[in-house]
Amino acid sequence: TGADTTEWQFTLGMIKPHAVSSGAWSYILDIIEKSGLHIISRQELTLSDDRARHFYEEHADKPFFLNLVSMMTEGPVMPLLITGPNAIQAYRRLMGPTSPEGARMTHLYSIRAIYGVDKTRNAVHGSDSAESAAREVRFFFPEFVQKIPTADELAEYA
Ligand code: ADP
Ligand code: MG
Repeated sequence: TGADTTEWQFTLGMIKPHAVSSGAWSYILDIIEKSGLHIISRQELTLSDDRARHFYEEHADKPFFLNLVSMMTEGPVMPLLITGPNAIQAYRRLMGPTSPEGARMTHLYSIRAIYGVDKTRNAVHGSDSAESAAREVRFFFPEFVQKIPTADELAEYA
C-alpha cells in the first residue's frame, strides 16, 4: 500500500523481560494506547530457549543472537496484539530505532528512548512488515488468527 492509503492492520508487539520486571510495562501500554493504537489482547509468559530461537530465527547468524536469546528468556515477556490504522508502521515509529542511545538523539519520545537500556535490552519488539506481523501474531495468538473473517466472508454484511 502507498503512503497515502490507510489500512486497518494487526501487529505483534512484545515487552521484553527487563521492561516487564522493572514495571515499565504499564507505562508502555499507556503510551501505545495514547498514540491511538489499540491493545486488544495481551499475555504474560516466559519463553523457552527453543521458542525464543524460533521467534528470532531470522537473526540466527547474527553475532548478537545468543545474547538476544538469553535476554529474551531471562524472565516473563508480554506479547501484545495491537490494532489500528497502519498499525505495523505506526507502532514501529512509536518504538523508535533499535539502539536506545541513538533513539535518545533523534526520537526523544519513542518507547526505546525512554525505556531502553542498551542495544539488546531495548524494551520492546514490533513486527517490521505485513509478512512478519502475520507470522508473529500467529506465533502468540493462533486462536485469534483463525477467527479473523476474510474480506469475502464480510462482504455479505457490507
Ligand atoms: P528491531 O528490534 O529494531 O527490529 P533487529 O530486528 O535488527 O531490530 O534486532 C532484533 C533484536 O536484537 C533487537 O531489538 C535487539 O534486542 C537485538 N539487537 C539488534 N542489534 C543488536 C546489536 N548490535 N547488539 C546487541 N543486540 C542487538
Ligand atoms: Mg526486527
